[in-house]
Amino acid sequence: MDQENNKMTVQWYPGHMTKARRAMETDIRLVDLVIEILDARLPVSSRNPDIDSISRQKDRLIILNKKDLADEAVTALWLDYFSRSGIQAVPMDARSRSSLRSVKDAIAKAEADRMERNRKRGILNRPVRALVAGIPNVGKSTFINMLAGKSAAKTGNKPGVTRGNQWISLRSNLELLDTPGLLWPKFEDPAVGVRLALVGSLSDTVIDPEELALRGIRFMTASYPGRLAEKYGLAEQAEAPAVLTDIAVSRGCLLKGSQPDTARAARLFLDDLRRGALGRLSLEKPPVPDAEVGR
Ligand code: GDP
Repeated sequence: MDQENNKMTVQWYPGHMTKARRAMETDIRLVDLVIEILDARLPVSSRNPDIDSISRQKDRLIILNKKDLADEAVTALWLDYFSRSGIQAVPMDARSRSSLRSVKDAIAKAEADRMERNRKRGILNRPVRALVAGIPNVGKSTFINMLAGKSAAKTGNKPGVTRGNQWISLRSNLELLDTPGLLWPKFEDPAVGVRLALVGSLSDTVIDPEELALRGIRFMTASYPGRLAEKYGLAEQAEAPAVLTDIAVSRGCLLKGSQPDTARAARLFLDDLRRGALGRLSLEKPPVPDAEVGR
């Protein structure tokens, strides 16, 4: 079993992970603020467990991105959870300009103390330097582009900046490192891999799509009963393989001789789930605080 787990770890951990982590550790020395982007649908699984130790002594802001795809009620629980853990968090849809204001406000809030300390020491208008960190596909580039907008100006190399880092100067007294810090999620737990694969953040070559679809169907019927019935017009009470067969039939995924093509149905189901066609959904909920247990 151990050997099998090891194999899984090797397979899932890209070889360049250690290199990326080192690059992050170097970059982080240059900034005041670490903006950590998580997927609002799975804030735990999309988090790099090393981020806390890597960002020690830096100001922190968590962004729960893809909020448009996540269950709003669960996102509200997560915001509360992070704020209780002492890290400010803000929801975002990186593709929508309306998110920009609240994210900028959150950055200003995260930096308020530093600004005040600087002001007292007579340091005025020193821009805040920030870097954006997160796992692949979580929306880092989309966010940086949105934040940078047209006003962005690459400031070029500056003395003391290693490896030719580029900074994007923003009007609001903020400088962003223009390469996002890439981190990988913790894959030792296979359930994390399944959740990431369900939202499309893990290559479909890692977990067989049909097996993954069955996991997704079980999750949907347990957590969002009625959604599959509504979307595909089928009986959800059935076991997951029967539901997949029903999806194949109802969507006309048929092989020669009218056999249901469950492989195609699986891809169709996964695509629907990932792009929000099954409605907003969250795959992870925060732990219930002790005080509320047993209420
Ligand atoms: P990166 O690898 O972290 O830089 O991720 P990207 O910025 O390239 O985004 C990955 C994919 O997610 C792209 O297809 C984006 O359009 C999409 N995406 C990013 N942010 C959001 C969001 O808030 N909502 C939705 N629905 N899609 C998003």
